[in-house]
Amino acid sequence: MYGVTSRRAARQVLVGGVAIGGAAPIAVQSMTNTDTADIAATVAQVAALARAGSELVRITVDTAEAAAAVPHIRERLAAMGVAVPLVGDFHFNGHRLLTQQPACAEALAKLRINPGNVGRGSKRDGQFATMIEFACQYGKPVRIGVNWGSLDPELLARMMDDNARLAQPEEAAVVTRQALVASALESARQAVEFGLRADQIVLSCKVSGVQDLIAVYRDLAARCDYALHLGLTEAGMGSKGIVASTAALAVLLQEGIGDTLRISLTPEPGGDRTREVVVAQEILQTMGLRSFTPLVIACPGCGRTTSTYFQELADRIQSYLRAQMPLWHGRYPGVEDMHVAVMGCVVNGPGESKHANIGISLPGSGENPVAPVYIDGVKAVTLKGDNIAAEFQALVEQYVQKNYAMKKPAPAPAVTTAG
Ligand code: SF4
Repeated sequence: MYGVTSRRAARQVLVGGVAIGGAAPIAVQSMTNTDTADIAATVAQVAALARAGSELVRITVDTAEAAAAVPHIRERLAAMGVAVPLVGDFHFNGHRLLTQQPACAEALAKLRINPGNVGRGSKRDGQFATMIEFACQYGKPVRIGVNWGSLDPELLARMMDDNARLAQPEEAAVVTRQALVASALESARQAVEFGLRADQIVLSCKVSGVQDLIAVYRDLAARCDYALHLGLTEAGMGSKGIVASTAALAVLLQEGIGDTLRISLTPEPGGDRTREVVVAQEILQTMGLRSFTPLVIACPGCGRTTSTYFQELADRIQSYLRAQMPLWHGRYPGVEDMHVAVMGCVVNGPGESKHANIGISLPGSGENPVAPVYIDGVKAVTLKGDNIAAEFQALVEQYVQKNYAMKKPAPAPAVTTAG
């Protein structure tokens, strides 16, 4: 499809009912930024992320209070009907928290362990083993998540020393990339040695540079068949974070690499955390890899449409479609593949609208103040007056009801008996 290399064959991992890897669709995940010990705030944010489409939600487990809160968070979400699997993010003290509060491990669907942050020197292997033993005991998969901000310094120093002894040493950046992959693969090998099954392991090697990420994941994908979690770490704020994440992930996804992804956006102060879910979905959908929400095709506008009307309509329709999806999801199968065009003038408006399932061509400057609507390529109606936005939205709703409503099963044939 579209030149996408077929997905690399990864082992499939089941995380609380969500499949990652194998032939499963690429899963979207996210992470809260609340204090996990604040149960009400964390429940609210997990629920919001799940409603936005996050199929797994990771929460920080960094203190005894946070670990104690996890089972309560799980219970409250269940009471709200939110079944999204929770992933516990552990660093430094995970072995202690799990030992003291095993109910935390039980309530989680997956553990994330950063091999660079499980302990130093002789303590490292024992603490890592403790966490893996909990995962085995409670049947939980583990993401071994290496991050170059916390790469195991002993491993890196050893690899740098080995490199320095080579006749032609590699650059330090290359050795660092090799160390990331080595850390992930060696930790996975140890986890298997400690009793975890290979189909309970997901790997990630996150870096903040686009070219580094591509190089690291190509290497990782070539050297193992574990399911891979993709993400550019510390991607940044706003458009920079979105562009950098998209640039890196699109290359890898196009090569069939990646089984689940998270977009690590820094929210604007007071910004909406669910944006990272929307961006992840849009990357997958615009690449033709998965469909989540009907797509709005809108022109950028130019000197031929100087009013803000068409921008407002495009925004209104996009928000409306996204808001409807939780309701439409079960009721209108396939609606997520619908295309809706909102165009600014006659230059490309009719043509683009005809390509969409339903589209409207608004009047540009100097044009007749009428807006033809095209349905399945045919001009269906012309809207005019002050109520165009509401009327177009109603037409979209009618289109959805008519074309995507679940078909009722055909009645069973009448049984006749011979007299
Ligand atoms: S469709 Fe019209 S308004 Fe929109 S960008 Fe093209 S020329 Fe400009």
